[in-house]
Amino acid sequence: MQALRRSHTKLRGHDPLPCSAWILAARVQNRPGLLNRASSSNSSQSGFSSNKGFSRTLGIVAATMTLTFLGTKLWDSRSAATPVQLEAAKSAKYADKKTMLIAVDRIRQVLGDDRVSLDEDDIEVHGYSEWSTSNTSERPVAVITPRSTEEVSSIAKICTEYRVPMIPFGAGSSVEGNFSAPFSGICIDLSHMNKIVSFYEEDMNVTVQAGVRWTDLNEEIQSTGLFLPMDPSPTAYVGGMVATNCSGTNAMRYGTMKDWVVNLTVVLPDGQVLKTKRRPRKSSAGYNLNALFTGSEGTLGIITEATLKLAVIPTETSVGTATFPTVKDATAAASKLIRDGVPLAALEFMDEVQMQIINKNGGAGGRLWTELPTLFFKLTVTTFGPQGKEAIWAIIATGPEGSQIWSTDVAVPISRLAEIVELSKNESGALGLFSTVLGHVGDGNFHQAVMYDPKDPEQYQAVKSCVSRMMHRALEMEGTVSGEHGIGLGKKGYLKEELGESTLQFMKALKRSVDPHWIMNPGKVFDEL
Ligand SMILES: Cc1cc2nc3c(=O)[nH]c(=O)nc-3n(C[C@H](O)[C@H](O)[C@H](O)COP(=O)(O)OP(=O)(O)OC[C@H]3O[C@@H](n4cnc5c(N)ncnc54)[C@H](O)[C@@H]3O)c2cc1C
Repeated sequence: MQALRRSHTKLRGHDPLPCSAWILAARVQNRPGLLNRASSSNSSQSGFSSNKGFSRTLGIVAATMTLTFLGTKLWDSRSAATPVQLEAAKSAKYADKKTMLIAVDRIRQVLGDDRVSLDEDDIEVHGYSEWSTSNTSERPVAVITPRSTEEVSSIAKICTEYRVPMIPFGAGSSVEGNFSAPFSGICIDLSHMNKIVSFYEEDMNVTVQAGVRWTDLNEEIQSTGLFLPMDPSPTAYVGGMVATNCSGTNAMRYGTMKDWVVNLTVVLPDGQVLKTKRRPRKSSAGYNLNALFTGSEGTLGIITEATLKLAVIPTETSVGTATFPTVKDATAAASKLIRDGVPLAALEFMDEVQMQIINKNGGAGGRLWTELPTLFFKLTVTTFGPQGKEAIWAIIATGPEGSQIWSTDVAVPISRLAEIVELSKNESGALGLFSTVLGHVGDGNFHQAVMYDPKDPEQYQAVKSCVSRMMHRALEMEGTVSGEHGIGLGKKGYLKEELGESTLQFMKALKRSVDPHWIMNPGKVFDEL
C-alpha cells in the first residue's frame, strides 16, 4: 500500500488516488458452467445487478485489470536490475547534452523559470516507468511544463533549431516504454494544460486541453448526464489517451478513443500549429488527420487540445457473471455470446488466478468468489451502455520481494480467442511462475501477466520467450501485438511482422514528411533506419 502510494504520487506529482480495496456488492450467483440469465427488472436475483451494482461489479473487473499493472508497482524494486533495457537504434544526428541544455536555457528565457525543471527526481519519473517492462537507461535533460499551445509551439521551434528530441508526457501511465527517452532530449509535460476549454452540452461534445484527466472530466460534467466512455488508467490524460488510442472495459460498446475524437489541435515538430477538423460529429472533408494523430504515440506532434464526443450516461444497465470449469469453456462461451448477437455492452474475463487474488484480499462486497474462470458481462436495456469505470485501485499485498511483472496484451479475431487464451495460459503456466490471464474478451483482447525474478537471467529469458511466442501466435491468427497499449519501445520488434514492409515504409515516409529531423519521440513505434 505504501509502495503504491509512494510510486503513484511520484508518478504524477499529484496526490495519490484513493487506495481502498475494492468492494463488490453486486448480487451474483456463481454456479460453475451456468450462464446466469439477465433481467434488468429482476436484478436482485440470478446473478444480475442493476445500475448501482453494475458499476461495482464492473469495478471489480476494472480493479483487477488494474492490479495486473499494480503488480509492477508493488513487486518491482527500483534497486533491482531493470528487467528490460531496450535501446533504440543509435543515431548521431541529435544535439549532444551540452547543446540540449543550451536549448533548455533558450526555452527558459522565452517561457520563464517556472516552466523548466532540471530536478533529478523529476527527470527520473518522466523518463522511467515502473509500470513498464520496457525502459532505457537514458533520461531527458529537462522537463518543461507549458501552459498553452503557443508555449508548446515555442518549445518545438527551439528544439527543431537545436535538434533536440521532444517527448510528450501525459500522466505517464503507458506500459510499453512509450515515453522513455532513448536519445535523451526534453520531456514536455502537458499536465498544466488541464482546462476544460468549452463544453457544448447540446452538441454532446467538449473541448479540453491535453492535460485534462478523463476521470476529472467525467466528474465535472456528470450532472449533465454525459460522459467520455474510455477507461484506461484512472490517472490518464486526454492527450495521452488520444496518443495511445486507448480503450478499456467499455470498448465493446463504445469502441476506442479514435471513435470519440472530433478534432485535435496539434503542434508539429517545427512549431506549426494545426487543427485537424471543425466541430461536427462527422466530417469527410479531406484526409482524416484525427486518425493519423490518434495512436501516433507522440511521434508526429504534440496534441495540445482535443474536442471529444460525449455519450449519454445509461440509466439502466444489468450486469452478470458466469463461471466455467476451464478457461477454454469461458472464452468459447464469450465468442458464442458475441456471435449470437447478444446485445452486450461489455464482456470481461478473469481466470481462476485473478479470482483467487480477489479472495486472498478479503473477497469483495463481503463475500468470497468461486475460484474458477469467470465472465463478467453487461447488458444495456433501454439505454446505451456502461458508465465510465470508477477510479479504483485494488491492492495485492503479497508477492515475492524484488519480483517483476511482465504484463502484455494482444488482440485476435474473436473466433480465435478461446484457442489463443488457452494456449497462452498453458504456456505461461508451464513456466512454474505466478501467471494469470484476463481480458476485454468482447473485443478479442486479453492480457497476460507473469511474475519473475529480474535478477535471474534464465527466468527472464524464459518469460521473454513465452511473451514472444504469444505475440507470434497472435500474428499467426491475424491478430495484433497491441490491442490497446501501443507499440512504444517494447513491441517495435513485431511491427514489421504485423504490418509488412511496405506499410511500415509508408509510415516512415509519413513520419519523415512531418518530422524530417526525426525529433518527435524518437525510438518509438519504429526506428528510422
Ligand atoms: C493501472 C493501469 C490500467 C490501465 N488500463 C488500461 C486500459 O484498460 N486500457 C488502455 O487502453 N490502457 C490502459 N492502461 C495504459 C494507459 O493508461 C493508457 O495507455 C493511457 O492512454 C496513457 O495515458 P497517459 O496520459 O498516461 O499517457 P503517457 O503514458 O504520459 O504517454 C503515452 C504516450 O502518449 C504520448 N503522449 C502523451 N501526451 C501526449 C500529447 N499531449 N501529445 C502527443 N503525444 C502524447 C507519450 O509520448 C507516450 O508515447 C492502463 C495503465 C495502467 C497503469
